[in-house]
Amino acid sequence: MARTEGFAFRDNAGWGNEGRLRVIFLDVGQGASQLLISPSGKTMLIDAGNNDREQQVVDDLHAYGIDHLDIVIGTHPDADHIGGLDRVIDDFPVGAVYMPKIQSNTKTYESLLRSIKNKGLKVKTAQAGVRLDWDEEVSAEMVAPVMVSDDTNNMSAVVRIAYGDSSYLLTGDAERESEQAMLSSGRELQADVMLVGHHGSKSSTSPAFLKQVNPKYAVIQVGKDNKYGHPKQVILDRLAKQQVKVYRNDLQGNIEIASDGSKYYVTTER
Ligand SMILES: [Zn+2]
Repeated sequence: MARTEGFAFRDNAGWGNEGRLRVIFLDVGQGASQLLISPSGKTMLIDAGNNDREQQVVDDLHAYGIDHLDIVIGTHPDADHIGGLDRVIDDFPVGAVYMPKIQSNTKTYESLLRSIKNKGLKVKTAQAGVRLDWDEEVSAEMVAPVMVSDDTNNMSAVVRIAYGDSSYLLTGDAERESEQAMLSSGRELQADVMLVGHHGSKSSTSPAFLKQVNPKYAVIQVGKDNKYGHPKQVILDRLAKQQVKVYRNDLQGNIEIASDGSKYYVTTER
């Protein structure tokens, strides 16, 4: 609870948003979660970290003034992404839920499906080419998964957001195989702000993909001293070589990169 005190929250949902699109990379430790608030106050949550961080995600959503979620996306069934989504869906009115077509037999996944069903929602398929009906001024399009894969990471929903001249690519845990498919698909991938794939694992952010996205800012969603050794030095070096400014949840807490359509405004919790 005290964690979010002193952090610069602004009025948002329902009140307009100073003409800004806000993308907030929530610090959920070793996991991923991104909260988006559109210029007109529409809301979207992509992933919600692990089960053991769900109370914190719910508290953060309240702290950011969220009282409903227009769109919820579970990028893929891994626990560090969908773990907290059951609780979020239980606690907030939700407009639409998107997940890729890949099953899992974990308790975490089954609990999420139960919460979705209890809410009377049906899962919409996350896949390349899906355009999200979110905010008139903002384009939100899925660019992956392009192909069906047995690998959950490579089934990750990847979302590209564009507002004015600004752009974001939110990559889930997509790995090289999916990055290649995205490149081959010919879809627009360039984005000034990129979520570094798979927490900075060397499975992702392949040189060709990074070159094509060509970000100015990158965010790595990782927990302190995680057992995977994320982010990998080779990925940090690759980003540095391309002169990308890197932000990390383990070092900076919640990270917000907002845009008024031309300029970016970065706020970090610490
Ligand atoms: Zn992950």
